[in-house]
Amino acid sequence: MTDSMLCESLASARRRLTEALVSAGRPTDAARLLAVSKTKPAGMIREAWSLGQREFGENYVQEALEKQAELADLGDIVWHFIGPLQANKTRAVAEHFDWVHSLDREKVARRLNDQRPEELGPLQVCLQVNVSGEASKSGVAPGELEALAEAVLSMPRLRLRGLMAIPAPARDIASQREPLARLRQALEALRRRFPEAPLDTLSMGMSDDLEAAVLEGATLVRLGTAIFGTRDTSRR
Ligand SMILES: *Cc1c(COP(=O)(O)O)cnc(C)c1O
Repeated sequence: MTDSMLCESLASARRRLTEALVSAGRPTDAARLLAVSKTKPAGMIREAWSLGQREFGENYVQEALEKQAELADLGDIVWHFIGPLQANKTRAVAEHFDWVHSLDREKVARRLNDQRPEELGPLQVCLQVNVSGEASKSGVAPGELEALAEAVLSMPRLRLRGLMAIPAPARDIASQREPLARLRQALEALRRRFPEAPLDTLSMGMSDDLEAAVLEGATLVRLGTAIFGTRDTSRR
C-alpha cells in the first residue's frame, strides 16, 4: 500500500466512523479509532501517525516490540495490546504497552499488576468477554466476569476501563448486534455493581461490524483491514 492509499483509507475509515455515530444519534466524538497494525510494517504506522492517528493495536508481542523500537521517537503514540496474552509474555506487555484489551484471567492480571513498572502510570485494561459461547475460546465467560472485575479492581497497577469482545462473524447487522448488545449490557451491569470504577470503554467493532458496534455503544473501534488493507496471512 502506498502512502497516498493509506491517506485515503484512513480518511474513509474516519468518515465511516463519524457517519455511523451520526446515524446512531451519538456525538461524533463518542467513539475513537484504534488502528490495528498487526503484520504491517513500522513505516505504515509512522505514516498513519503523521496523518494524526495516535492509537495503535498490536497482537503479537515480539513483532510489536520491534516496531515500537523503530518508532521510539513518536513520543505521544499510544500502544494497545489486543492479542491473546500468555502468562509468559506479561512482562513485555506490562513494560511496553499503555493498554491491554485481552485480559481474561486473574493469573495474568496479577502478573501484569506485579510487573507494571513504577515509573509508568497504571496499565489501562479491558476484560475480554466470550460473548459468542462455543464459537470462541478466548474471553472470560459472562458468569465469571463480575468476580474477575472485582479482582482486577483491587490491583493498584491496573486501571479497569471496560470490556472487549470479538464476536463470531455474522452476516447481517441484526445478528451482528446480538453479541455486541450483550457486551454493552455486561458493562452496564458492572457499572451498577462498581459505581466508583472508571468503566468508560466498550472495545468492539472491527472492519466488518463497525456500524453494528457503534449502534450498540462502542467507544473504541478496532480497525485493521479498513485502514491498512488486507493482511498477508502467510507471514504467520
Ligand atoms: C485483527 C484484529 C482486529 C482488526 O480486524 P479487521 O477485521 O482487520 O478490522 C480487531 N481486533 C482484534 C482483536 C484483532 O485481532
